[in-house]
Amino acid sequence: MNLFLHVCCAPCSVMCIETLKGEGIEPELYWYNPNIHPFTEYKSRRDCLAGYAKNLGLALVMEDEYGLRDFIARVQCRNTGPHPDSFAFPGRCAFCYRLRLEKAARAAKERGFEAFSTSLLISPYQDHELVKKTAQAAAEHYDVEFLYRDFRPFFREGQAKARAAGCYMQKYCGCVFSEEERYRGAASADYRDRAATAAPKSEACSTGIMV
Ligand code: SF4
Repeated sequence: MNLFLHVCCAPCSVMCIETLKGEGIEPELYWYNPNIHPFTEYKSRRDCLAGYAKNLGLALVMEDEYGLRDFIARVQCRNTGPHPDSFAFPGRCAFCYRLRLEKAARAAKERGFEAFSTSLLISPYQDHELVKKTAQAAAEHYDVEFLYRDFRPFFREGQAKARAAGCYMQKYCGCVFSEEERYRGAASADYRDRAATAAPKSEACSTGIMV
């Protein structure tokens, strides 16, 4: 199978790639993450993946789009109704998944891949079911297969390997809102629930949030 693998960051990709290779699948990697801010953070994660892909000898398609303004404007448009925390922007992660996965599905189809998948499936901190559902809908819309795997059992191993490989290990999920939550300790209840079951205190998650 020729597979287009959307990669949110190099650390998350480590065990996705290794697992897929174990199945005889050599993925082509795809970077499209306009949800990562500010620019220095975006650049660190982007450049880390470029170096990592080069070391592995894997092809990487770079959709180099730093999307701060557009991302915030579109999240703001979807922020309906009053909310006790005006910075919470409920629904932003659903939009963020859709933004990236629809683009990945479309790019996979246009480039003639049989299927696409995403490294978001390795993070126990992401809303796994929503990632899966969003990718399935995008696959249907663009008429390309979505290869679903639950990579979460390999999460810690991947983090350790990424650290050992000298990867840039981020400290928060990606958007400016998640950066504030990380440093002000104001994560949503949903996120805190996932974090509590995913990792002991002070351990970095696959998207880099320290809990
Ligand atoms: S917290 Fe992460 S998944 Fe949610 S909107 Fe921000 S970058 Fe996207």
